[in-house]
Amino acid sequence: MISKDTLLKRVGLIIIVSLITMLAIISVEVFFFSSNSAYSQKLMLSPQEQIKESEVGRALIKLHRQSQSQPEKAQKALDQLVEKEDLSTTETIYAHFIQRNIAMALGESTLTQTQLLEQMAELHDIPWLQAQLKIEQAERKLKQGEISEGIEDIQQAIDLAEEHRAEFLLLKAYNTAGALYNASNQLKASQLYFYKGLELGKQYPLSEYNGRFYNNLGLLYVHLEQWRQALEYLEQAFITFTNSTDAPKERLLVVLFNQSFVYTKLEDATNARKTYQDALAYFDENSDDYYQVLKHKVEARLLLLEKKYQQANAIALECQHHPRANDFPKQKGICQLTTAKSFVGLGRFDEALDHLKSSIDTFDLIQHDRWLIRAYKTKAEIHELLGNPAEALRIYKKYNAKEREQFVNEIYALEFAFDTQEVQRERDLLSVQNELSILQLGEEKLRFRILALWGALALLLLVLAIRRTQLISSQNVELQHLSYHDPLTGVNNRRYYQKQIESGSVLSKKSLYRVVLIDLDWFKAINDSHGHEVGDTVLVITAQRIKRAMKKDELLIRWGGEEFLCLLKESNDIEARVGQILRLISEAPYTTKSGALNITISVGVSQANSIHSLRHDTTPFVEADTFLYQSKQNGRNQVTFPDNDS
Ligand code: GH3
Ligand code: MG
Ligand code: MG
Repeated sequence: MISKDTLLKRVGLIIIVSLITMLAIISVEVFFFSSNSAYSQKLMLSPQEQIKESEVGRALIKLHRQSQSQPEKAQKALDQLVEKEDLSTTETIYAHFIQRNIAMALGESTLTQTQLLEQMAELHDIPWLQAQLKIEQAERKLKQGEISEGIEDIQQAIDLAEEHRAEFLLLKAYNTAGALYNASNQLKASQLYFYKGLELGKQYPLSEYNGRFYNNLGLLYVHLEQWRQALEYLEQAFITFTNSTDAPKERLLVVLFNQSFVYTKLEDATNARKTYQDALAYFDENSDDYYQVLKHKVEARLLLLEKKYQQANAIALECQHHPRANDFPKQKGICQLTTAKSFVGLGRFDEALDHLKSSIDTFDLIQHDRWLIRAYKTKAEIHELLGNPAEALRIYKKYNAKEREQFVNEIYALEFAFDTQEVQRERDLLSVQNELSILQLGEEKLRFRILALWGALALLLLVLAIRRTQLISSQNVELQHLSYHDPLTGVNNRRYYQKQIESGSVLSKKSLYRVVLIDLDWFKAINDSHGHEVGDTVLVITAQRIKRAMKKDELLIRWGGEEFLCLLKESNDIEARVGQILRLISEAPYTTKSGALNITISVGVSQANSIHSLRHDTTPFVEADTFLYQSKQNGRNQVTFPDNDS
């Protein structure tokens, strides 16, 4: 049978163990697995940040910088490094990036390196690398005019980068997506990605992408011929590029050119000229050919506005005949159109129509509808000026319809989108952020609570343990007291005597001791006439009185029924001391329930003995007992010492 107490203890133990187990499971869940949840997924570090902690990594980052400016030198250093060091996966990828940069700088094919990177991305399942390569592919498609394939690639890249929170890729990805959608005339989607980019860019205020997003949004409004809004974004782009740490000066050049173009469209010749002049501060003869073509284009249109047709004509011709003009077909087409307009200004309509035809061919080639429409519009205007209203009307009708289809729908859709979508987007973003922070806060609270619970549990266990040891030690103390004391008189018992003789700390090893045996006289008679209880009282008082004569390194033991044993230290006054004990008992009557009682004792004393001999020899006790017997025999209430003492 199990007692009720044991049963309770077992149930308590089971409850505590199950609680701890549950707490442990929850803790493991919250601390080790919840960080993988979608909401708290960690931001993925860029490869630079991943490798910059190691020495090899830092060396690679340096080589990456060097790879474009000093490809040969970088190649040498890279070969040495790869031979000497054991590279991690990310470092290996980074080394391939460098290799590719070098190939590009040397004008070699980058295909092999790109394929190697693609293999690594698949083999090691590295989402950020997959995303990065997709972005690059999308950019190539954009340049080659394969817009719909490019959109497919960039969507995959964005999905991957968003899923794995590879933000270092997202700015570029959004910008490319915006550009691709813009190129495919999906202005709303384009706007959405530039906005997304701006939103993300707030976390990276120094990135040059912020400027690009503003610039591209500005251009979006240029397409829509919303000049004021276009200017606002372009001005914002200029400020952002100026503050950016990584924007090359050509970005400022382009933004100011764009602003100048908008002023030209607004027929604000003063500001158009001013921004053009400002732009030139960021231009030099070493700038890429693209910027040279751009410069001619902007200047020609500005001169046209200023009605300096001759100069405009010269510059526009220079632009379209630039040796690399064919590499920038859109710019070339615009310059051809500007040439045509300058010929109109000069009244040379035939030449104007010739150049107009070339520009239409160019825009046709690249299927640039927006510019085609403008070219046809100019053609219609020329026919009007030439007095061919019928021909003019034919062209107008044909392309006005197309224009309306192309623009007006987009304009209204987009205007509407700007108002509603932005608000909606902000609201979505806010609520997602809220949700996220609430969740994160909740999780933090949960973690804190679990930690607190563990703390409380530890404290509880500690308190219980302390209580238990306290209890045990107090029980021990009690047990010890019980085991070494006589419960009636409170003086020590025989067991205590045994312990002190064998291994105790009370007696002094250097001293000699007398065994002093004390027996109450006629005690049986006290019990008989006053009762057992009074007998007990007599025993208690006797013990107390004897105690008064004891020193701290001596023992008083209740030896048996009404017998006490003292171990008194040998001294010159030993007889006087034993005599004092005798008097302490007899000189004053005991106060009991039955009134005052006169009590006496008889005492027998042994020779002086060392502790060692007390431990191994019974002679001292026999001796004391013999002398006690003698005291009784001689009439009680007396002490008997060995003969040589007296
Ligand atoms: P004597 O002077 O010869 O020693 O006579 P006595 O009566 O003291 O001797 P005896 O040994 O015949 O009696 C001892 C009595 O002590 C016997 C016993 O009942 C009594 N006694 C022993 N232990 C206790 C006790 O704890 N309490 C009480 N009240 N009596 C006890
Ligand atoms: Mg006796
Ligand atoms: Mg007696």
